[in-house]
Amino acid sequence: MKQSVADTLASLEEHVNEVIDGLFERGFITFDSDTDVVDTLTVAGRVLRRVEGVLIEAVGEVAKRSETGDVEARLTTRFDSHNVSELVQRATLVGPQTAGRLQRAARAVRHETSLVSGEQLPAPFPAMRDALLRGDVGVDGVLAVAAPLVDIERRVGREALLAADLELAAASRGEGADAAPPACADLLRVQATVWATVLDQDGSEPREREALHRRGVTFGTPRGGIVPLRGNLLAEVAAQLQRICDAEASPRVEGDTGGVRFRPEGEDRPDAGEFIPADDRRPAQRRHDALATALFVAAASKTLPTIGGAAPTLVISVRESDLSAGRGWAHADSCDEPLPIGAAHHTGCAGVVQRVVLNDEGRIVKIGTEERVFNRHQRRAIALRDGGCIIPGCGVPAAWCEIHHVLKHARGGPTHPDNGVLLCWYHHRFLERHNWKIRMNRGVPEVQAPPWNDSSGRWRPVTRSRSRLADRVIRQT
Ligand SMILES: [Zn+2]
Repeated sequence: MKQSVADTLASLEEHVNEVIDGLFERGFITFDSDTDVVDTLTVAGRVLRRVEGVLIEAVGEVAKRSETGDVEARLTTRFDSHNVSELVQRATLVGPQTAGRLQRAARAVRHETSLVSGEQLPAPFPAMRDALLRGDVGVDGVLAVAAPLVDIERRVGREALLAADLELAAASRGEGADAAPPACADLLRVQATVWATVLDQDGSEPREREALHRRGVTFGTPRGGIVPLRGNLLAEVAAQLQRICDAEASPRVEGDTGGVRFRPEGEDRPDAGEFIPADDRRPAQRRHDALATALFVAAASKTLPTIGGAAPTLVISVRESDLSAGRGWAHADSCDEPLPIGAAHHTGCAGVVQRVVLNDEGRIVKIGTEERVFNRHQRRAIALRDGGCIIPGCGVPAAWCEIHHVLKHARGGPTHPDNGVLLCWYHHRFLERHNWKIRMNRGVPEVQAPPWNDSSGRWRPVTRSRSRLADRVIRQT
């Protein structure tokens, strides 16, 4: 008697259990060598894809047997499930996302049945089906190819789609036109997207209409000093934002100060205190700061539309007593959320924001005016001297920097290049918190690093200006 499919698999399962139990005999796998570890990944991946092939086929069958209009006759109904996903989740113990992925993969590679003759028709992606049955791809590979291509068939025709299917299946087993090694799922996705755009030249128009409709940015309810931001960016807007983030973040890397460390050799003692990287921002925090920088540059550019004849200046109000005490709150017009006093200090210095200082009775005692703002010529001179953010290891270029009054304007610090240095938004905003000290020495900025970075407490001249770096080299030769 012929064994059922499930029984056949169950005997395989027995063997699998035996083998894997053997591997874990001592509670963990003992690998012979590095090669052994990597080879294990390769083989386990291959086994996984074969098993996924079976899963996809079975999920496709569940879907097929549950498509009848008669609810009672559906396989899902007979197994007490509302839909295919529920049945798949219950039987395989996967989550809803994985169940959904299995279903989409099944739709891409399952045989259709002709409604007229009842005969089997080829799968929507026949070559990818073969690739799945051979174990060249698993769920990820099938979806990587199907997702970008599945909707374009009615526009590009069956033949074009089959050509893409054939070529991408070849790429998945390393027999593509470029003779590259077998493509992983992500590479297949990139290639399939290219195929989709090349084949579907007319597809950009409806897609753009849809994207234009869905674009949007929403401010959520402010809470705890945070305003949630949600939305859908058009791809080119997101790409532009990404470019700005890249520019702001380069050349630093996570947990690295860009190779600049003042701590002398041999002073890396463990008792020197816990090492704190100079820039410990998460990528998401960096993106936030890049956005802040971009908004600052935009507000300062004077090319934005004006409101009431003036640039869109943000007005921040703060009480004089709070400002001098360094505590309390400031307020921005157009925002209900109170701002920390540090933000008022920062914005007062940066110049594109107007600061209104009130005394305790609410009388306006000071209005930030243009005089505190470095003009174009001063800015250019400072940029030439400093080259970029003067905090060592920070790579933010001059065009993206704000000018910081070394001696506060409120304390009589002049708006003069000898009192202005370049700082990026992040280092400007959190200068005091980070304990970097800045002073001017005959018109040249010097910084004193926080103790964890330089225990010597020495003041060091800083610049990223090419001409001043060149001068330094010339003096040494
Ligand atoms: Zn910086």
